Amino acid sequence: MPELHILGIAQDAGHPHVGCRRPCCLPAWSHPAAGHLVSCLGIRDGERAWLVDATPDLPAQLNTLEALGASLAGVLLTHGHIGHYTGLMHLGREGLGAVGVPVHAMPKMHRLLIDNAPWEQLARLGNIALRVASAGEEIRLSEGLTATPLLVPHRAEYTETVGYRIVGPSRSVLYIPDVDVWWPGIEALIESVDLALLDGTFFTPGEAPGRDPSEVPHPPITTSLERFSTLPAAIRTRIRFIHLNHSNPALDPSSEAAAHIRAAGMGLAAEGESLSL
Ligand SMILES: [Zn+2]
Ligand SMILES: [Zn+2]
Repeated sequence: MPELHILGIAQDAGHPHVGCRRPCCLPAWSHPAAGHLVSCLGIRDGERAWLVDATPDLPAQLNTLEALGASLAGVLLTHGHIGHYTGLMHLGREGLGAVGVPVHAMPKMHRLLIDNAPWEQLARLGNIALRVASAGEEIRLSEGLTATPLLVPHRAEYTETVGYRIVGPSRSVLYIPDVDVWWPGIEALIESVDLALLDGTFFTPGEAPGRDPSEVPHPPITTSLERFSTLPAAIRTRIRFIHLNHSNPALDPSSEAAAHIRAAGMGLAAEGESLSL
């Protein structure tokens, strides 16, 4: 049976966060186990594994799948922000020296990769084999296992952004790590899956020091809890937040913020968790 692995739950720059000496990051600088890797999913079917997003933490994330006896069979990209594709650098000749690993990307993301160094070199030297994905069109990973990209609203300086709906023989998962706002229809999508991993970048608006929330819009978890409180309890338990910024107090499971999420009948994704698909 294929499995889904949660390989990271932090925002693009990880936790601890570069340059941060505040209480949110200090413990993780001294004790790496208190930190978190960048948001990423692993999908494994026997000896074949796929990464959903290629994060700066790709070496450790791939190692988790390899320790289970799998090797990299492909990468599915969501969009062109640093936490979501720059890990591709590890597939080149300075790193893994991969041979023809399929990398599925939407048209603008594909363009970014073939038009710019160092990514174009990965394709030119055959480390990766780029495949252009289409919104709403299934990517077949193996027998009875598919991933479908779904367009979502998110800052589009470079590329469009997709989430993925991953469907296995027995369960389905929705992965939307990065979004500007929830849109009508998100509830129906959540209801259609067994697990919904949703953007939980910030707990409250304006919590990130020195960052103007209008420049990095995300639905704060407090807003999402309120919005999704209208769903029946059995559906709400399917919601797990992921992609948490280092400033997000819910990164600490003993925090009031984390308790607040649990009290609303929802949860946080946890690194190391797996689910049979
Ligand atoms: Zn991100
Ligand atoms: Zn993003």
